[in-house]
Amino acid sequence: MTSAMTLETLLWFVGTAFVVAQASTFCTTIYLHRCLTHTGLKLHPALCFLMHLELTLATGIVPREWAAVHRKHHRFSDEDGDPHSPYLEGLWNVLFFNVLMYKKEIKNQKTLETFTPNWEDDFLDRIPKIGKFGPILGQATLVLTFPWIAGLDFWIGAPMGYAVWWLNAGFYVLLNAMINSICHKVGYRNFPNQKATNLRWVALLTGGEGLHNNHHEFPMSARFRAKASELDLAWIFIRIFKALGLADYKESGLATIKRP
Ligand SMILES: [Zn+2]
Ligand SMILES: [Zn+2]
Repeated sequence: MTSAMTLETLLWFVGTAFVVAQASTFCTTIYLHRCLTHTGLKLHPALCFLMHLELTLATGIVPREWAAVHRKHHRFSDEDGDPHSPYLEGLWNVLFFNVLMYKKEIKNQKTLETFTPNWEDDFLDRIPKIGKFGPILGQATLVLTFPWIAGLDFWIGAPMGYAVWWLNAGFYVLLNAMINSICHKVGYRNFPNQKATNLRWVALLTGGEGLHNNHHEFPMSARFRAKASELDLAWIFIRIFKALGLADYKESGLATIKRP
């Protein structure tokens, strides 16, 4: 194929970006969120390395920073001190500017010291400025591989590969912002004492993260689903990892709630 932009090329372009963003979303919920931040899940070091590598290339996230901001969010949840509450900042502001709120908070050294004391860096964390170089490497990977993935001439596919990375980043940022904004205001609550809400369609797009009301009630549970009708796709992967001896979790919180 040599034409610059056919419908098929467009589908490869958007589809590749969406698949990469989904991979990052699953690495976020399984590794960053359930394992590192809340420690309700243990993962094999090889799995941790692969998921950390994926996040480094596709998002540039530094795990300690993510964990600190998120633990602060749980500590103050929708009250003064919450880094991204739609009750304090407004729903639309968190939906569209969540990434700026995150970037502001990670510059706060006190947040890192208070919420991630005694943090142990892994191999990737020890590479200087990895949060900046990671995305450049990720972009280079897509520049080199996208022409082959989409069956395009190199000089057409290469710049598109670069754009795929940015579209992936846009998808990823929006999916995360949806959890922090709409999943604190719109949806249903299994646990009415929590302001966070569950939204099934967001859960479907975010590997189960949209079951945010369940998660706020049982933050250390490796499982986010509380009802049989709720879909927690990451939980399916976690069960497979456990069956393969690559994961372990405490039988606590939602993991012990019987299906209604
Ligand atoms: Zn929340
Ligand atoms: Zn959490």
